[in-house]
Amino acid sequence: MDTMEKLRILSDAAKYDAACTSSGVNRAGVKGQLGSAAACGICHSFASDGRCISLLKVLMTNICAYDCTYCLNRRSNDTPRATFRPQELADLTISFYRRNYIEGLFLSSAVFGSPDITCERMLETLHILRNEYHFNGYIHVKAIPGADETLLQQLGLLADRMSVNIELPSNDSLKRLAPQKSKENILLPMSRIRDGIKENAHDLIRYKSAPRFVPGGQSTQMIIGATPENDRCILQLSEGLYHKYSLKRVFYSAYIPVVQDRNLPALDTAPPLLREHRLYQADWLLRFYGFTADELLSEKTPDLDPMLDPKCSWAVRHPEEFPVEVNRAPYEKLLRVPGIGVVSAKRIIRARRQAKLDHEGLKKLGVVLKRASYFITCNGKMQCRLRTDEPAVLAGILRDRGLPQGGIQPEIPEQLSLFNPTKEDAVKCLTGQL
Ligand code: SF4
Repeated sequence: MDTMEKLRILSDAAKYDAACTSSGVNRAGVKGQLGSAAACGICHSFASDGRCISLLKVLMTNICAYDCTYCLNRRSNDTPRATFRPQELADLTISFYRRNYIEGLFLSSAVFGSPDITCERMLETLHILRNEYHFNGYIHVKAIPGADETLLQQLGLLADRMSVNIELPSNDSLKRLAPQKSKENILLPMSRIRDGIKENAHDLIRYKSAPRFVPGGQSTQMIIGATPENDRCILQLSEGLYHKYSLKRVFYSAYIPVVQDRNLPALDTAPPLLREHRLYQADWLLRFYGFTADELLSEKTPDLDPMLDPKCSWAVRHPEEFPVEVNRAPYEKLLRVPGIGVVSAKRIIRARRQAKLDHEGLKKLGVVLKRASYFITCNGKMQCRLRTDEPAVLAGILRDRGLPQGGIQPEIPEQLSLFNPTKEDAVKCLTGQL
């Protein structure tokens, strides 16, 4: 099998790993025009400053010793198999890099023989890239649960980011669908990476030239919709992972039915994209807006509202928290107002030191008044004479978003367009403001 055929199989097999935001396109070169696009596993990730990075996203191998029910690469599935040699994959990465196709590598793998053997091969690939080719670009590598601690440590010294997939939202589901994996096997490498990052931070204070260990932090991925856990259970798990393992991100991956099995949704079930979208929004609220999972959802309402984003939904259910007076409210209270994001809350705090703010002024600071006006006062006054009882607020928000107020048709999730954005979309796209 030649390298391009392996690349086709192994980049296709990697597409279910959610650690980036989009996949590539396939476009041949045209005479008289500059460049071409290769679909083979090029995905995009975003740096902390919002810069978009193209990555070669590929598996080391899709030959797997495990038999996870939901996975196309499972041992018992009849699918074309391929394996890269470490030198081959390093050469491929460098040739893509030199052609300017990519800026980095996202490397994952099925379990080839054993977690240790798999990890050794990934380590050899990274070693060639970093120490023979002196490749300085971004590398994200998946840690294989069950691999030896020393191997993980060495991988962490060569990679920018590491991730260990939590896979499913509960131990019961893991036992049922991925019996060769265990909660302990997944959480142990996570805690090792967390400790390694902490120790490395101390080393760097003492010795400035100490090698860096996973400088981009660690992340994880969870499959949504393959198992019966509700959104509350998922968000509680994410919250625990952020606090306990200092994760940078939890990626939610809507389950795409690829396997006929009585423990999984039927093959014609649509992937729960709207649910995935709402979970990402709620995740922003956990990380940047000071919400807890138990505030957003309760035993009585264990799932996110498909009609409204989680912040609006929380605000509509908590009229006792509103209205908030923008000229006096502390930062934490401003953050809870729908339509006021992290950036606009900071701007409000700065601007009101100079002068009292009114509704026109808030608009200039980036506040989305269409949503915020139901929940704020400026100098004790609400905008127009809005009704602020729960049904009126809900109907008003839905009407402003062009949705039926009878509450039937949920918002359809779609990729935000950068080509024809509203101002609100563009800001949300870049900063995750809610
Ligand atoms: S370990 Fe499980 S999820 Fe990973 S590739 Fe093998 S079968 Fe798929």
